[in-house]
Amino acid sequence: MEIDLESIAKERGIKYFLVSYTDLFGTQRAKLVPASKIKTCCEDGAGFAGFATWLDMSPADSDLLAVPDPDGLIQLPWKPEVGWLPADLYMDGKPVDQGPRNILKRLMKQAAQDGLQMKTGVEPEFFLITPCGSEPADIADKQMKPCYDQSALMRRYDVIAEICDAMLALGWNPYQNDHEDANGQFEMNWDYDDALVTADRHAFFKYMTRSIAEKHGFRATFMPKPFLDLTGSGCHAHVSLWRDGTNVFKDSSDEIGLSRIGYHFIGGLIHSADALAAITNPTVNSYKRINAPRTTSGATWAPNTVTYTGNNRTHMVRVPGGGRFEFRLPDGAVNPYLLQAGILAAGLDGMRQERDPGKRLDINMYTDGHGLEGVKRLPLNMLDAMRALENSSVLNEAFGSFVPSYLKLKQDEWNGYCGHLTQWERDNTLDC
Ligand code: GLU
Ligand code: MG
Ligand code: MG
Repeated sequence: MEIDLESIAKERGIKYFLVSYTDLFGTQRAKLVPASKIKTCCEDGAGFAGFATWLDMSPADSDLLAVPDPDGLIQLPWKPEVGWLPADLYMDGKPVDQGPRNILKRLMKQAAQDGLQMKTGVEPEFFLITPCGSEPADIADKQMKPCYDQSALMRRYDVIAEICDAMLALGWNPYQNDHEDANGQFEMNWDYDDALVTADRHAFFKYMTRSIAEKHGFRATFMPKPFLDLTGSGCHAHVSLWRDGTNVFKDSSDEIGLSRIGYHFIGGLIHSADALAAITNPTVNSYKRINAPRTTSGATWAPNTVTYTGNNRTHMVRVPGGGRFEFRLPDGAVNPYLLQAGILAAGLDGMRQERDPGKRLDINMYTDGHGLEGVKRLPLNMLDAMRALENSSVLNEAFGSFVPSYLKLKQDEWNGYCGHLTQWERDNTLDC
């Protein structure tokens, strides 16, 4: 049944709709549409000049139309007169191939043809920092092991509780909030769901967290490694795959509770890991998180090898049991839609090709994983990941023309980064 947004607006007191799409780099772009015009907007779309955002487009292209998806409506709990609507992208009457939400929907439709639905929970970590961005808000209390620190958590109660209240009101079923392993770093968890629902909520969560933090005089950042000496911000994904209401990753007779399909799905992530990193770890800074020095406490907890394990946090994939796995590679900068799309594409390929994930390594990779035969390192930098993506037949086939578009924009970013002369270079090269 068609959803009548105008009536919903009247019932719920919504005056405006934010018609929002997420571009290739994860930035949310929106137009504010009065409730009385939302019907027309759903028919015709909201117009954007695509090239002005992170999309591979030019001023010569025609209008980019963002067509809202009424199923994704979220009323802003901190400003209830506004309703957020995720949108799909169209140009010249056709879906835009490089649109991140379009890609996810397309891949999910393909999976549905085989009767499969991916469900995911995400664990976004973020820092609350001073508004100028130079310090974690809690640097004054810098202690060596701030993880789960009760006082540090309660010091930011006003911000965390307001975000959690919002999730409760929205029915997301949030269940835990904590202070993470770095000063001023937090993680908030809500229930897993269908991959598209989770992607929309993840996108909205980032916007909501930034907005509420700002209200309280802080800045929230999902940057993967804002401080070299502190643990970075990951965005782990817990993944399961369902057919007719049954979790097909579950096999209670297996040692770690995973089915053959589950192993093959992980085999797919392992096969495509270096290419996938270009999506799950999308910035220059991302590689400072996964290549941070390995220590037993603090400053990392992120994987740097293409390996899987049981309930052990030093690998790329952790299987905590119960027919799901945790993919620990993605970081805070990941585009919520491309995250889900990337996992689905690589995992389904693993299933179809019955890819072998290799040997499960139940060792501490940080201390005992060096030089092990057959253990592959994750890319050392964004350029290596980009090259792997360029050469990945799996991801090129699944993502189509998105890949060259994305790589073109990322190459510009890499060139911009390389155009900087750093203090480190001067310190180490002046006297050579
Ligand atoms: N912050 C860590 C990361 O960068 C993860 C910590 C945790 O396991 O919650 O992935
Ligand atoms: Mg965490
Ligand atoms: Mg986790």
